[in-house]
Amino acid sequence: MSKRIYLCLAHMSGKEQAFIQEAFDTNWVVPLGPNVNGFEDDLKQFVNAREGASTLDKEIVALSAGTAAIHLALIACGVKAGDEVICQSFTFCASANPVTYLGATPVFVDSEADSWNMDPELLEQAIIDRKAKTGKLPKAIIPVALYGMPYRIPEIKAIADKYGIPVIEDAAEGMGSRWKGQVLGTFGEYGVLSFNGNKMITTSGGGALICKDAVSKQRIMWLATQAREAYPYYQHEAIGFNYRLSNICAGIGRGQMTILDEHIAHHKHIAQRYREAFAEIDGITFHDAPSADFDANFWLCTALVDEKAHVRGEEKAYAEAVQGAVGGAAGVVHGGGSVHTDCEPNRNVEALRMYLDQAGIESRPLWKPMHKQPVFNGCPAYLSGVSEAMFRQGICLPSGPMVSDEDVNFIIQTIREAFVR
Ligand SMILES: *Cc1c(COP(=O)(O)O)cnc(C)c1O
Repeated sequence: MSKRIYLCLAHMSGKEQAFIQEAFDTNWVVPLGPNVNGFEDDLKQFVNAREGASTLDKEIVALSAGTAAIHLALIACGVKAGDEVICQSFTFCASANPVTYLGATPVFVDSEADSWNMDPELLEQAIIDRKAKTGKLPKAIIPVALYGMPYRIPEIKAIADKYGIPVIEDAAEGMGSRWKGQVLGTFGEYGVLSFNGNKMITTSGGGALICKDAVSKQRIMWLATQAREAYPYYQHEAIGFNYRLSNICAGIGRGQMTILDEHIAHHKHIAQRYREAFAEIDGITFHDAPSADFDANFWLCTALVDEKAHVRGEEKAYAEAVQGAVGGAAGVVHGGGSVHTDCEPNRNVEALRMYLDQAGIESRPLWKPMHKQPVFNGCPAYLSGVSEAMFRQGICLPSGPMVSDEDVNFIIQTIREAFVR
């Protein structure tokens, strides 16, 4: 084993340090400044460009995290304690957690089988049923571009507009994914981007909220900077947050923006390699875009392992509890868990993960649906079984700019070997 191949590592352009140095040289080591403004301008230009159409005029607020962006968008949509917010169940916890920060309740909606994202029909059923049961409409709808795959935005928007509910697009994983040539995050009332260490670009940690106009940008900026009133002293009439991006981190972001297009192209290139290879391997199916309208960035390439296929080492799958946690490089995880939960990847998927791991290749199950997370027990959920079925069969594979052609060949070869013929 020579080296380890990781799911999605950050990749620097080489220009980041100059922007950071400039911040030090000019003493802008604060959560505002030229890099924050410059990064916002770069992002604005990027999200507003459309293929074959006039540019949009969305505004951007750079923030300390994508999670913070969701939190502020919810507040700006008027979400308060006791309210309900519709959230795609098949996602990372950060899509739903901020709903609970406000004392509101997430209402989970299952996915449709093609995109793995929010099922528009279930969405409408959920809205009608919540209105019938609580007398109130949900306050916002959060579709998620899972692994960068676009959601069915025209259908979701049509339903949202019909009931007058704002859409907060969670495009944290979908930076640079497009629906019919328009960047995700620019369709809804708000759009969320993340620049965490493993996303399409990184600021080490950071995020942004795409706002529809200057007025909504002003309001988000005000909330992100402790909600100060216009007096010669600190006067507060609302609760604010300390959520602005640091000028140092924004310097990394400016460097990263110079290679964003390259990153997107590379993720798509890796996807093409898996697509071609898996067409020839029995037992594994590449998760592809349902049609050309879904222009995915393939942040993480994913695949389904046939339930009937056998993988080497299956008998050892789930033999012992995992120490630590997958994706646990940053932060602290609780150890000593039990071996099984009531909803987990099939044995052959876990065996494939272990087989790749011993070959030095990191892989990971799909996000476990939120309606199956103990922490969200008791939250309403509108289900079709799709996300649970995908979770049982799915796997995330190394993607992104640090994965070379040689790496992909090795990964594909290892997957081929892993199946018992
Ligand atoms: C990463 C992520 C977020 C949160 O972004 P952070 O910048 O890590 O706070 C939100 N939603 C989804 C789907 C994500 O993958």
